[in-house]
Amino acid sequence: MKVLKFGGTSVQDAVQIKKVIEIVKSRCQDDKCIVVVSGLGGITNRLIEASRTAASGSENYKSILLEIQTRHIDTIKQLIDIKEQSHVIANVKVMLNELDSALFAARTLYELSPRSLDYTMSFGERLSSYIITQAFCNIGIEAQHADSRSFIYTDRNFNNAKVNFDVTDACIKKYFEDAPQLSIVPGFIASHENDETTTLGRGGSDYTAAIIAAALNCTELEIWTDVDGMMTADPRSVSKAMRIPEISYSEALELSHFGAKVIYPQSLIPALTKKIPILILNTNNPGSEGTKIHEHPKTNGQHVRGISSIRNVSLITIQGSGLFGVVGIATRLFQTVAKKEVNVILITQGSSEHSITFAVSPEDVIKAKESIELEFQLEMELNHVDPLKIENDLSIIAVVGENMKNTPGISARLFSALGKNGISVIATAQGASELNISVVISNKHEKKALNAVHEAFFLSHIKTLNLFIAGIGVIGATLLEQIKDHQETLLKDNGIELRVVGVANSKKALFVEKQIDLNCWRAEFDTHAVPMNTQSFVSKMQELDLRNSVFVDNTANKEVADLYEMILSSSISVVTPNKIANASTYDYYKNIRKAANRYGVQFLYETNVGAGLPIIGTLKDLRNSGDKILKIEAILSGSLNYIFSTFSNKVSFLDAVKEARELGYTEPDPRLDLNGTDVARKILILTREIGYQFDLEDISINSCLTEMSRNAASIEELWETIGKYDNPAMEERRIAAESKGCKLKYIATFEDGKAYTSIKEVSADHPFYNIKGSGNIISFTTTRYKTNNPLVITGPGAGADVTAAGVFADILRIMA
Ligand code: ADP
Ligand code: ASP
Ligand code: MG
Repeated sequence: MKVLKFGGTSVQDAVQIKKVIEIVKSRCQDDKCIVVVSGLGGITNRLIEASRTAASGSENYKSILLEIQTRHIDTIKQLIDIKEQSHVIANVKVMLNELDSALFAARTLYELSPRSLDYTMSFGERLSSYIITQAFCNIGIEAQHADSRSFIYTDRNFNNAKVNFDVTDACIKKYFEDAPQLSIVPGFIASHENDETTTLGRGGSDYTAAIIAAALNCTELEIWTDVDGMMTADPRSVSKAMRIPEISYSEALELSHFGAKVIYPQSLIPALTKKIPILILNTNNPGSEGTKIHEHPKTNGQHVRGISSIRNVSLITIQGSGLFGVVGIATRLFQTVAKKEVNVILITQGSSEHSITFAVSPEDVIKAKESIELEFQLEMELNHVDPLKIENDLSIIAVVGENMKNTPGISARLFSALGKNGISVIATAQGASELNISVVISNKHEKKALNAVHEAFFLSHIKTLNLFIAGIGVIGATLLEQIKDHQETLLKDNGIELRVVGVANSKKALFVEKQIDLNCWRAEFDTHAVPMNTQSFVSKMQELDLRNSVFVDNTANKEVADLYEMILSSSISVVTPNKIANASTYDYYKNIRKAANRYGVQFLYETNVGAGLPIIGTLKDLRNSGDKILKIEAILSGSLNYIFSTFSNKVSFLDAVKEARELGYTEPDPRLDLNGTDVARKILILTREIGYQFDLEDISINSCLTEMSRNAASIEELWETIGKYDNPAMEERRIAAESKGCKLKYIATFEDGKAYTSIKEVSADHPFYNIKGSGNIISFTTTRYKTNNPLVITGPGAGADVTAAGVFADILRIMA
């Protein structure tokens, strides 16, 4: 004898039921078969809604009833030959009339007892099992309809009835003694002494199948559903969940108890008692091997078998001096809540015995609270026990695996995955069997926690970063292009998955949680981006709450830079070429770093100075390895270097400035470069990097321009003043320098604890002498890199390509 159970999605409609018929045909050729079915997918919920609506006194239950009727009749019409339809429809209508009468009674009496609800809910399975029986008969496969109320007997605990196995097992044996080749059984429903309909709890059709399989000592039980088997996590929350080929009863029990809905926890007990293997299979993919639940599964070397979660639980904590060392407190506590039928999901107690915390469903909180307050009334009056602490809106994440036992580092990996994503753990519990480690966290982080923990245990070879990119001008667009070109190789060769999930300019933003297709991001952005400012972009990023999130600021905007502290405090790393934050007040500079440290995320800004050149990283390495920076000299402005290397006996200073501007090397108002402030900001960042608490005022800035040019009212006037005042003065400096074999360069210097920017003469043997065009160069003199042989870094210090590449490298550094 074989038992196959098909869940709601497997019998959702005629198309699905046809798949069921094919599966039964192919798998039940030799053995006799019992097929247990759920109601059509979603019907139980609709029946509950109709019942509650009726009991509230509303007539609206009728429209739900009509919808239920239409769904079933449509299914019949698609499954049964037209000649046979009328009697099947007539029988279904009889059942629907019974349902209608029950709902009418609820409406009239304004009442819905658990018992009436069991009666109304039972119609889901009663209807589906009848229709499916007829569908088999219709294609010439003889099938008997076997109403489970005739052989599964329970107590009167309506909605969640307990099975009387002594009676039930015997009845099942007798009922199926002379069963025909195929029987169709409604899951979920049972009865109390023949005439009262009961149900086995939501999801209970699995249980029906297990009860029958155990009573008949079947060799295997098949549970057919809508996923490829039991997965390493709920595939609805974790897209990378993988099929678990084999799992033990206890592991499956633990996972399902902690939320893996794919199998109803109770159904594992009869199977476990009789050691009947359970196969979980996919109706939509019958070729998949599914999951085998049995006694001795192979380990595959994994310590953790799966991860599950229960959303929405409440924690109740009882604490006080009166609990310390007193025997029997826990017994009293849990006995009193048990009497009120409160299901305790998790318990944790501090070793000081000062407090006991346990988790329950939110709907049980009041019942539990009242019963505990009554039980400990005396202790509370004497202040030996404090008022109960109740915390709501929480989720439990459970990591399950028999192989975790005696394996060091499992908890560390779990807590580190949560910590890195800014998820605080409110309570934790680990059974002595080490089969399950559970943590209680805030509801709002449930999905992120599942993904982060899943990645830590199952995908440690793949790391995912979720990128939010602000600023899609030249640098931003180049960066997206570079990511697109390299995405596949990174995943294949380095196990790094970069997903761009948000992009924004100053007016609009586009979010795609699964990831934006970078082959057509511009078109996607143009058609689907919605109006959004920076603040709301950040809020949306926080709301999405994705693991390993990185905010990439490609703007040169102060408003954006001002949000870094807040972004980092949401456990989102920040990568940016925008130097405004690092060059703003020292307090803000410090606060950003504090936030990054506190929330375990990174703030990376290699491109703040010298674009893609490895300047800041080198400086950090020197410092961290104990070297002392004695002097920094640097050409840090590509535009100024262009001007000074073009300026010669053939090209006047004015013409050099004009040419640099025309080529786009300078800002539209070239004074922004010529004034030296930009260079000053860069040397400010470098001095802060080596530990000086400088502000911009501490940098002495020497402008390249005369006062008249600095004050010119327009660009036209600027050309005039440069021609009149700067040209002759500059010409004089150039000739003086050249007479000594030197060139003029605009240089940022840090020396003897002071930093300044100025035009300097450099001699032919100086490494700066030959820096051409928009190049940058920086030289560090340190205790190890001596005066006559400093550490020199040089290369292009501007340009979208190299800057974007620097940003890209910072993004990848987050992985390290
Ligand atoms: P059925 O209607 O077949 O009884 P259910 O909806 O009760 O199906 O259970 C199947 C669903 O369980 C899947 O669609 C999946 O979303 C959910 N689920 C939760 N956790 C897991 C898990 N660890 N593995 C597989 N499915 C899971
Ligand atoms: N139809 C019932 C429910 O939705 C039982 C089941 O599908 O297992 O809970
Ligand atoms: Mg189910």
